[in-house]
Amino acid sequence: MIPAHRYAERLARLAAVARAGGVDAVLVAVGPDLEYLTGYRAMPLERLTMLVVAPDEAPVLVVPRLERAAAEAALRTDVRIATWDETEDPYELALGDVGTGGAAPSLLAVSDRLWASHLLRFQAARPGARFAPASSVLRELRMVKDEDEIDLLRRAAHAADRVVTRIAAGPLVGRTEVDVAREVRERLIENGHQEAHFAIVGSGPNSASPHHEASERVIRAGEPIVLDIGGTLDGYGSDITRTIWVTGGDPANGPDEAFQRLFGLVREAQASATAAAWPGTPAEQVDAVARGIIEAGGHGRYFIHRLGHGIGLEGHEEPYLVAGNSEPIEAGHAFSIEPGIYLEGRYGVRIEDIVVCGRDGPIVLNEAPRELYVVDG
Ligand code: ZN
Ligand code: ZN
Ligand code: ZN
Repeated sequence: MIPAHRYAERLARLAAVARAGGVDAVLVAVGPDLEYLTGYRAMPLERLTMLVVAPDEAPVLVVPRLERAAAEAALRTDVRIATWDETEDPYELALGDVGTGGAAPSLLAVSDRLWASHLLRFQAARPGARFAPASSVLRELRMVKDEDEIDLLRRAAHAADRVVTRIAAGPLVGRTEVDVAREVRERLIENGHQEAHFAIVGSGPNSASPHHEASERVIRAGEPIVLDIGGTLDGYGSDITRTIWVTGGDPANGPDEAFQRLFGLVREAQASATAAAWPGTPAEQVDAVARGIIEAGGHGRYFIHRLGHGIGLEGHEEPYLVAGNSEPIEAGHAFSIEPGIYLEGRYGVRIEDIVVCGRDGPIVLNEAPRELYVVDG
């Protein structure tokens, strides 16, 4: 659990960044931004709940009266609560006197996840104001994970490691992908996750589809499975991929030479890109390290996605390890490193770990072996 003092520090830093950026108010919607700043994980609703952070005022949480008790119970830090009744205008309550006086148009930063229905009401309430995404002020804070966040990411990673190891122990042959996916979800919860968000079980030709939905296909001996699973533990995400080959106990059904070559390339690409994740390295450079190895192996055009994505309170967040992102990665950034090769109609390989960029180099959170899992049953 994140200690309470972190929330007060985050709110103070956000106010400082907002002041420096000339932002009059940050309108923080229900979702990961609100959870990051206050610990309050609220349901997104048509009734407005919103944290307002203005540079020179104490933060205020605007909530419908019927949500007040829930908000009070969930808040991890001291913010004033302002409630609104069904017949009141919560948008005016949230804005207060922001944008009503002064010569320059106000600048309001709104959460990237704010519903359009709410944003349109804010825009109507302050027609002269300029609106910007809150990620412009929040991204720097959220990208750099503190020790408590890294600890939660590590616990989530280790729990997912145990699930992968258990699934890879079999039996797998003769089961459907959805049956294996169901077991993955159950085991993620057993191992401390509150939510199991995804369980990609791509067997045989389905392993060549990076985001394959588990299907009724029956797993057969003599084919690979790409297993990509994750969920959240105390709000923080896990995300791991391992590649399995099922033999059914007959060595004649082992991985063919072409597959072993693909696997070797992905393994090398994954290891080399991980080793490149030092502070100051441009994000796109880490991607290029992996891509260069797979291209040199003649499979560049079958590595059809970016190398990785940031992870934290959201499963996919900044920074993205992708060509075109020249921003350097920094100590505290947490992201996936997940190269893959996908031969459509035939099979695919992916290996994925969650990595934290440490001051003294990369820290790999996952500990499950990265070799090809060759499974008998
Ligand atoms: Zn993905
Ligand atoms: Zn994944
Ligand atoms: Zn991922």
